Amino acid sequence: MKITNVSADLYQIPVHRDMRDAIRHFNKMDVIFVRLETDEGIEGHGFTYSIIPHGAREICTMVQSSLRSLINGMNPLNNEQVWYEMWRRTDWVGRGGIAVLALAAVDIALWDIKSKAARMPLHRLLGAYRDKVPVYNTDGGWLNHSLDQLVEETREIVRAGFRGTKIKVGKPDPAEDYERLTAVRKILGPHRTLMVDANECFTQAEAIRRAAMWEEFNLFWFEEPLPAEDISGHAALKAHTSIPIALGESLFNRHQFKDYIACDGISIVQPDACRCGGITEWLKIAHMAACYNMQVSPHFVMELHLPLVASIPNGLFVEYIPSLDAVLRSPMILEDGYFSPSEEPGLGIPWDFEKLARYKVTP
Ligand SMILES: [Mg+2]
Repeated sequence: MKITNVSADLYQIPVHRDMRDAIRHFNKMDVIFVRLETDEGIEGHGFTYSIIPHGAREICTMVQSSLRSLINGMNPLNNEQVWYEMWRRTDWVGRGGIAVLALAAVDIALWDIKSKAARMPLHRLLGAYRDKVPVYNTDGGWLNHSLDQLVEETREIVRAGFRGTKIKVGKPDPAEDYERLTAVRKILGPHRTLMVDANECFTQAEAIRRAAMWEEFNLFWFEEPLPAEDISGHAALKAHTSIPIALGESLFNRHQFKDYIACDGISIVQPDACRCGGITEWLKIAHMAACYNMQVSPHFVMELHLPLVASIPNGLFVEYIPSLDAVLRSPMILEDGYFSPSEEPGLGIPWDFEKLARYKVTP
């Protein structure tokens, strides 16, 4: 099989609600959608995304101008060969950022082709460790939601049967975070899973202080407490708290995860296939984590990560934020707190191309 054409289009999808965390405000999601055509008629679809106003057009250009010329004519089933061609030939401007986001979108499309060619859904192609994956909900815990909203949404999350709840933290006044956590834990009761996410906003000293204030809440993890480049800070925090440290959405490759593991700065691994170099790299990160008896709970894009978590023995959760619902044929259905991967060949994401077309913008 040969790749005969590579294209990338940019879509700006409005967010379903006003969302803020400790460092960002989301008013749209830029989706860079990649199509790979082949000489055997199988078309692969991949994507990456940005939640900030800058850089999405440059990702599109990277696919269209550089990656396209590198991989045209290659066999899309040889994903390792294609991946390394893109990785090595862009190394001067790559290893992270825009170049790796572009590479990720192409790699994800390769796996769509591979699954369709094998006539197997992705999770079965990858070994299918489980048929359903527990889901935790982040969508009720945004930092801009008032305490009353947070309480109401947590009640709704419990009613809906989600397997966990994550709230954003990072209010300037620590007492306010404490008050919100107290209210949420009271609704959840002692046994339901609760996590917090600081989106990199703290200093090491402040993270240690806040973690000590939160020991009583039996938190399942403390996510992105510090800026991603501060590995030693994460290690110091981890040594000071019983709360597991989770991160990975801001890391771009397996080497960065390796450094975190080697420095004992991480407890739960959260790679995002759209950001960490695609499915090829995501799988390597997940299997490396298994060597250290660590679990994997990927960041965001539940539609893509569902079959990946279903395929590995150390998979933990997928994260519920329904940001792609506006461009899907149907929303994902929660059953008893779990999602089940599609049994259709391919990635199993039910794209609605008519709906998607409404949001197309000129790169
Ligand atoms: Mg996060």
